[in-house]
Formats: sequence, structure tokens, C-alpha cells
Amino acid sequence: MPEKCEYGLLIDYEYCTGCYACQVACAQEYKWPAGMGGIRVIEVEQKLPNDRAYLTYLPFPTELCILCAPRTRQGLEPACVKHCMASCMKYGKIEDLARELSKKPRMVLWVPRS
Ligand code: SF4
Ligand code: SF4
Repeated sequence: MPEKCEYGLLIDYEYCTGCYACQVACAQEYKWPAGMGGIRVIEVEQKLPNDRAYLTYLPFPTELCILCAPRTRQGLEPACVKHCMASCMKYGKIEDLARELSKKPRMVLWVPRS
């Protein structure tokens, strides 16, 4: 039976500025070719009634994310977490992150497939 993953990423996308630093950091760390990577930042545009547009950025890890196992084994933060200047991302134990998740809306908890 596969080992159950105990760690994940908590992403507070309310304050994501869409700077793509997390995406670039992952690509550089693992030398992903263009178009591939452990995290993608998606821009979502919503039209408001007054003809204005509202942009939301959603950073989401992909199937290629390995939760930076080589880094975290050395006590380092995942590359995406380290380079997010808006501190939108947190790495930790799922149970700790889930407690934080319950305190605030507009956050997602991501756990890799075991
Ligand atoms: S945790 Fe590591 S592998 Fe996963 S998206 Fe972030 S930088 Fe990439
Ligand atoms: S580095 Fe942080 S602020 Fe920039 S796109 Fe990624 S999650 Fe958003």
C-alpha cells in the first residue's frame, strides 16, 4: 500500500498578485522545460455588472509537484514557498494546515497523490 502523505501546501490565493515567481522558482529548481512544472498560476477574469473586470490569480500545484522532497529533507522550504514575496504559500503537516484553513476563506489545501 502506498505511504500516506502527511504534508501539503496551503495556498492563500486572496493575496496572490500573479507574479509567477512560484512557477519560475519550481521550473528553475527542477529544470522543467517550457510549459511543464510543479505549479501553474492561472488568471481568471470575471466581468462585473458595471463593465469592469475583476482578476483573480489561482496558483495550483500539478501532478509534477513532489513537494520539494530534496529540499524539505534538508530542512529547506519548498522553492515556490520561499520565492512567494506575498507569503501566499505555506508548507507543513496536513493537520496543522487544515486548522489554518478553517480560520479563513479563499484558501486551498493541496496534498500530493501518494
Ligand atoms: S513544492 Fe516544490 S515541486 Fe511542488 S510546486 Fe513548489 S517548487 Fe514545485
Ligand atoms: S509567487 Fe505568490 S504571489 Fe506570486 S504568483 Fe505565486 S503564489 Fe501568487
